[in-house]
Amino acid sequence: MRVFIAGAGLIGSAIAWRLAQRGARVTVADAGRFGSGASSAGAGMLSPGGEFDKPSVWFDLGLEAMRMYPSFVEELRAETGIPIDFARCGCLHFADPEQARARAEFQCARGLGVELRPEGLFYPEDAFVDPADLLRALRRACESRNVALVENQPVNRIESTDHDAAVIAAGAWSSQIAVTHRGAPVAMPPVKPIKGHLIGFDLEPGLLGAMLRRGHTYILQRSNGFTVAGSTEEDAGFNTEVNAETCKEIHRRAADLFPPLAAVEPAKCWTGLRPYAPEPHIRRVEGTNVWLAYGHFRNGILLTPLTARISSEICGAIPRFAGLKPRAD
Ligand SMILES: Cc1cc2nc3c(=O)[nH]c(=O)nc-3n(C[C@H](O)[C@H](O)[C@H](O)COP(=O)(O)OP(=O)(O)OC[C@H]3O[C@@H](n4cnc5c(N)ncnc54)[C@H](O)[C@@H]3O)c2cc1C
Repeated sequence: MRVFIAGAGLIGSAIAWRLAQRGARVTVADAGRFGSGASSAGAGMLSPGGEFDKPSVWFDLGLEAMRMYPSFVEELRAETGIPIDFARCGCLHFADPEQARARAEFQCARGLGVELRPEGLFYPEDAFVDPADLLRALRRACESRNVALVENQPVNRIESTDHDAAVIAAGAWSSQIAVTHRGAPVAMPPVKPIKGHLIGFDLEPGLLGAMLRRGHTYILQRSNGFTVAGSTEEDAGFNTEVNAETCKEIHRRAADLFPPLAAVEPAKCWTGLRPYAPEPHIRRVEGTNVWLAYGHFRNGILLTPLTARISSEICGAIPRFAGLKPRAD
């Protein structure tokens, strides 16, 4: 079985890895370097409770992905030997008591661990992962399973019948790719870039325990002490310029949440383009061998293990591959 994947971010590379584990011959092509899109820019909060204050597809997917994360990380570590900074540190979410209660009620009913605190809500199971580590490990896992990684090669068009299956995983750029099936255009659901700024500080490891969050302001500290604060949502097309004023504003908000930050200058400021869609597109385009895996917006790092499960469906949909190498993921 030959599968072609456009886009080597977390989503494309995780799908490639899972397919290769099942014995598929996979090619992943990226317009830039492996992982150079939103995936390497993301903060890496794994925090469905803080993200979603009402019932939604996002919340349900996020909860499921959260359950998959520890074993996903463990399997990647074991297969590659690459350390992955992943920790269940919990998250303290500041909110007024009324909002907090309403939020906790629906989240608790859906099975999310959440505690009411004087400051708002505490999510003991929330975690962070360093997306750079995940990308390094996924690259190694793909390479060692002979996935062909083609970098600096934009895919402008795909005729899906040139492959047993074609997967579109090009993040915010996905709907720009002209996809045909037996010569007929395949309608690609729209996705658009929403820019986000982040700033990072070199701090002593262990200074911040649980992640902190108020609205869209959040702070997390990686195990090596590097502390990330975010963020913004900007409808600015594909512009990725860093704006100094925006970084100052994030710094101010972050220092409100965690006062020690007021006295430190950021060591790094950067941006990324979240692939926005009202709901993530993780499915087959009916009547074709085209699979969509994009539009993960603010939660693509969280949803990576769950999205990679699409590999079972891809294998199952191809008669001579169905039934081979079943997996539990
Ligand atoms: C500031 C910021 C903070 C974030 N924080 C979090 C967080 O805390 N938690 C979380 O879960 N998520 C977070 N996210 C969201 C997360 O990073 C994204 O949802 C996720 O990385 C999307 O992964 P992807 O593989 O779909 O896209 P990308 O990583 O963007 O990968 C798409 C790839 O496709 C390539 N490409 C583009 N055009 C073409 C083409 N024509 N042909 C071939 N390849 C192409 C690109 O070069 C890119 O490498 C954050 C994002 C940003 C920007």
